[in-house]
Amino acid sequence: MSDLNTQAVAKYRNNFLKEVEACVEEGDWVKMCMQCGVCSGSCPFGPHWDHPPQELFMMIRAGKREEVLTSSSMWMCTSCYNCIVRCPREIPITHIMHGLANYAHRLGLAPKNQPTRHFSGLFWNNIIKTGRVNELKLSLGLYFRDGLVSGIKVGMAMASVGIGMVLAKRLNPLELLKPHGCKDTKGIHAMLKKAREIEDRRKGLTAA
Ligand code: SF4
Ligand code: SF4
Repeated sequence: MSDLNTQAVAKYRNNFLKEVEACVEEGDWVKMCMQCGVCSGSCPFGPHWDHPPQELFMMIRAGKREEVLTSSSMWMCTSCYNCIVRCPREIPITHIMHGLANYAHRLGLAPKNQPTRHFSGLFWNNIIKTGRVNELKLSLGLYFRDGLVSGIKVGMAMASVGIGMVLAKRLNPLELLKPHGCKDTKGIHAMLKKAREIEDRRKGLTAA
């Protein structure tokens, strides 16, 4: 169990709803859910997940901490915003889904082999370096996530798409050697550092 997880467990003593309210983005909305099921019925992918949004919110209130935080469901949210638009209580469901995923990740409880989690990590690590996404590096990172052989196979299968993108000037192979960044990369790094400090302080999860 990570230090952060130990702190969170000690602090909230099994009151998972309070923990979510304090530590998850927009988590204080969860108690407003009246379990009407509109969000789950509107979610294009919900039926294919272990726990669609309404069910996750019910589990949070029931104190099912481990089941919620180790679930892959919130990692599947595509931010289509269907649920938010239709929720009669105007609950920011999409933000809570991403907030739960982020919190589970920070606690070290998120499922290890979840593909969208892998994509999120690659995307984040890619964009924070220069402030701009290097599409080629991101694509290669995805192709080779399961090793060299599988990466070559995926790369060959996607070759015509890649060539099409290069010809359409949507992908530049030289980006691998000389990635383009935003004008003030140091400023981006300072901003991210500050944001993380503020976030940690707000959630009371810093060691101090
Ligand atoms: S639509 Fe809103 S109120 Fe209804 S179950 Fe979903 S989150 Fe709860
Ligand atoms: S925003 Fe996410 S949870 Fe909401 S309907 Fe779309 S995919 Fe489902």
